[in-house]
Amino acid sequence: MLKLYNTLTRSLQPFEPRDPSGVRLYACGPTVYDHPHIGNMRVNVWVDILRRTLEWAGYPVRLVMNITDVDDKTIAGAQRTGQSLAEYTEKFAQGFFQDLETLRIKPATLYPRATDHIEEMADLVERLVERGHAYEQDGSIYFRVSSFPEYGRLSRLDPSQLRSTGRVEGDEYEKEDIRDFALWKAAKEGEPAWDTKVGRGRPGWHLECSTMSMKYLGTDFDIHLGGVDLMFPHHENEIAQSTAATGEPVARFWMHCAHLIVDGIKMSKSLGNQYTLKELLNDGYSPAALRFMFSSVHYRKQLNFTFDALSQAQASVDRLAELVLRLEQEIPSLQKGKASGAVAADASPDSGEVAMAPFSEVLSTIAARFRGALLDDLNTSGSLGHLFTLVREAHTALDQGRMSREEAVEALDWIREVDGIWAVLPQVEEQIERRIEVDDKELLAMGPPISEDLLEMIEARIRARAARDFAEADTIRDQLQSQGIELEDTPQGVRWRVRTAS
Ligand SMILES: [Zn+2]
Repeated sequence: MLKLYNTLTRSLQPFEPRDPSGVRLYACGPTVYDHPHIGNMRVNVWVDILRRTLEWAGYPVRLVMNITDVDDKTIAGAQRTGQSLAEYTEKFAQGFFQDLETLRIKPATLYPRATDHIEEMADLVERLVERGHAYEQDGSIYFRVSSFPEYGRLSRLDPSQLRSTGRVEGDEYEKEDIRDFALWKAAKEGEPAWDTKVGRGRPGWHLECSTMSMKYLGTDFDIHLGGVDLMFPHHENEIAQSTAATGEPVARFWMHCAHLIVDGIKMSKSLGNQYTLKELLNDGYSPAALRFMFSSVHYRKQLNFTFDALSQAQASVDRLAELVLRLEQEIPSLQKGKASGAVAADASPDSGEVAMAPFSEVLSTIAARFRGALLDDLNTSGSLGHLFTLVREAHTALDQGRMSREEAVEALDWIREVDGIWAVLPQVEEQIERRIEVDDKELLAMGPPISEDLLEMIEARIRARAARDFAEADTIRDQLQSQGIELEDTPQGVRWRVRTAS
């Protein structure tokens, strides 16, 4: 049973998607005015790990992430560089997508852009005005916070103490109440503006997320995600806008990822510790190390980024990859059937260590613990601990000849399966394998996908060689070559390559 921490209720709650056809997720996306820094990346990797975990748990996922391509910051950037808003934001949007790909973050189902939804935003503003939740002042339209008594429920801030902060302060317009926030900003000289039913102007930032989440996921969807810094006022305002307009909640679960600090202090541009992905890659760190480091701390805990921690993460990734390589290399020579030397299982439930049990039992105990941790509010640090217990146990079992071929295959399959969540192992191009039994040996044939006919020819050649019929083997090799298949014989079997046309 999957349990997630819901910020709305401040408690762990069992999670099931409302609609069994899939989980509807919304994540606040980037404002494309700058290159994302590691703090943004932590949130994006967290969203990716949650999404992959949901898929691994058997739920299809519909993930929507907005691109904020109009707001005060993007407009200021475009003005500073003398570019159009679209030109200015496009290069940062493309940079963002490149970073996602580099970090092996699975693409969202949709990345809607604010500037493509101006009309829907005007519709929402109109509805809020009609219902008395918004008012106009000098061509701008504000949300009337006093009309929404639930305001502050998510962030649990005392309404009388709420002060405008951050982006709210940027609204240099007249308001009835200091807490009120701009839904729509009147056109200003030199700023981009759209002609709409609520006047000429541009949307406020909070309105963008309400409009796009509602359009693509409906109201009351499953989970709304974002960094903890967005809880107030952004998420509070999203709830106010959407719920005041529709009478429905935005989402059942609200989840927030904690801050990232650098070397124990707050990250900021002026301190020069706001690293971008490119800077870290230029320094020789790998995207896998970053993914691993982010996952090594629970998402609700502050993460202290240090270069030491990043190097340790790289070492862990390398250890995992080494085991995979060792298993791949040793599988063909391992004995089939249960390996000897195993003693009765003595795995105490929480010790982390698993005593000398048959390896298949060790693996299933560790796999169950791994699953339990991950489904317990995405306890990534706990589940990685279990994964590395397996790494140690597997090396020991191999060293002591306590792993059968079946167990090794099972371990390898499981590691590859859970790497579907971490995505840190070196990516291999898609390969297919065929294990061919010849006498009492098993030979491995491996390569990129090819037709069944070609596979059978490769198998026939392996058998011919094993029978020392080298003339036949050579004939088949020539036939394969004429069809573009190159073979390479190795001690474990054969690898094939598909020759690309020259
Ligand atoms: Zn948002």
